Amino acid sequence: MKQFHNIINGKRIVSRSGETIVSVNPATEQAITRFPKGTAQDVRAAIDAAEKAYETWKDVPPPKRGQILLRAAQLLRKDKLAMGRLVTMEMGKVLAEGLGDVQESIDMLEYIAGEGRRLFGHTTTSELPDKMAMTVRAPVGVMGLITPWNFPTAIPIWKLAPCLVCGNTAVFKPASDTPLCGLRMVELLEKAGLPSGVVNFVTGSGSTVGAEIVKNKRISGISFTGSREVGDFVIRNAGVKKVGLELGGKNGIIVMDDANMDLAVDGIIFGAYGTTGQRCTATSRVIVHRKVRQRLERMLVARIKKLRLGNGLRPSTDVGPLINQAAVDKVHEYTHIGQEDGAKLVIGGSKAKVNGKGYFYKPTLFTNVTPDMRIAQEEMFGPTLSMIEAKNLDLAVDAMNSVTYGLSAAIYTNDVRTAMLAVRDIEAGLVYVNSSTIGSEVHLPFGGVKQTGNGAREGGIEGINEFSETKTVYIDYSGRLQKAQIDTD
Ligand code: NAP
Ligand code: MG
Repeated sequence: MKQFHNIINGKRIVSRSGETIVSVNPATEQAITRFPKGTAQDVRAAIDAAEKAYETWKDVPPPKRGQILLRAAQLLRKDKLAMGRLVTMEMGKVLAEGLGDVQESIDMLEYIAGEGRRLFGHTTTSELPDKMAMTVRAPVGVMGLITPWNFPTAIPIWKLAPCLVCGNTAVFKPASDTPLCGLRMVELLEKAGLPSGVVNFVTGSGSTVGAEIVKNKRISGISFTGSREVGDFVIRNAGVKKVGLELGGKNGIIVMDDANMDLAVDGIIFGAYGTTGQRCTATSRVIVHRKVRQRLERMLVARIKKLRLGNGLRPSTDVGPLINQAAVDKVHEYTHIGQEDGAKLVIGGSKAKVNGKGYFYKPTLFTNVTPDMRIAQEEMFGPTLSMIEAKNLDLAVDAMNSVTYGLSAAIYTNDVRTAMLAVRDIEAGLVYVNSSTIGSEVHLPFGGVKQTGNGAREGGIEGINEFSETKTVYIDYSGRLQKAQIDTD
């Protein structure tokens, strides 16, 4: 089995620990590669390299930085099929979604490459004569990037691209379940011409490598995507630095009695069981108008029965495995919790193997769920959907908002007024009308409210804020001392 290394200042470095972590294919349970189990010392060496590289990288004109990202996009486009297959092998999602993961990376690289020629600030007036004022974007410094496994190329690129175009250097720690996809993204940037030391790559556990990145005072900013529990650790331990958190969700779809039911069923099936429910924007609740509840249940069950579990590389597979055994156990635990709390298990609810292997779980549907039940409140990150009945829009929106998360939500209705009221009243960072809870585009801001994050957005023009500081500049050409607030009346 191939052993990979950390990348520090462009060099392949063996971890001081001498220990390794193993990346596993979740469909076959076969080990793919070994990576170093990094140490805090490895992280500090990576920070040394990033600090040194920062001295020159910060002064490279942003359009030149953007050109490297554009070249990376072009290289990745050529390599899309191989990378998509690797995503499927290391993470488990079906090949169409593995390719989607890579496409999202290409899209973000292209979009952010153009940002090199924008990075807009404001110019404005001064209250004093012969004086002007403006804002410019400045880099944050050395940034720590910590990513989850569920979008193993896209989330690293969602962070790396804006981080680099803004002139920062980085220490990047991928999730321990998908280090190879993370490594490939760093190699891609190297091939595209990124200077050594600008991105340093350290693998290893969250509690060692991740915690050192979070706590180290020489890191000026953290961009973290992952669970709320670890997000909470990050915010408590980062000290005074810029922190962006993209955390979990408990996303819902409202289906009103006037909805196009076929359309709604397509969106629910895709949202709940696509990526085996392991998207931060996955649909884990459906809140249905009482009048169409039975019909929706019948339609969903008919579709769920047809979903085929299997290795995501096979074209016949609809639903791939979960990421690892712990994920299977967690989802199964929630099946018990749902039943104990009085919900009705309609279909699924059991662990599965395909050809005797793999971390599979049968697509699961609960009905008779009330908004306060744990299966309606807590993120499971698996193929389990909870159906809640509501009498009217107000109660449906109340149910939608009754969770502590606020990432994504959707409503299916053909009534403009109903749609607009839902858009206004739903507490979420993303709201979809007549489409599923998933499907973000890179040029629009992405992120959530409530305990889904701390106000940061990635993607879109707002995505740049997480990776840059605003510097306010006053230029006085009056030739005399002018005092704001004093010399004006
Ligand atoms: P996780 O367990 O929180 O891990 C995320 C990353 O944090 C991994 O790289 C992990 O390293 C690292 N980590 C763990 N403990 C740490 C610590 N004490 N200090 C610093 N880093 C630490 O999340 P996950 O299971 O990988 O991903 C699933 C979660 O991510 C879900 O909650 C999902 O909703 C969320 N997510 C959110 C978004 C969004 O944009 N809002 C997008 C995707 C996923 P190891 O892998 O080595 O443990
Ligand atoms: Mg894996």
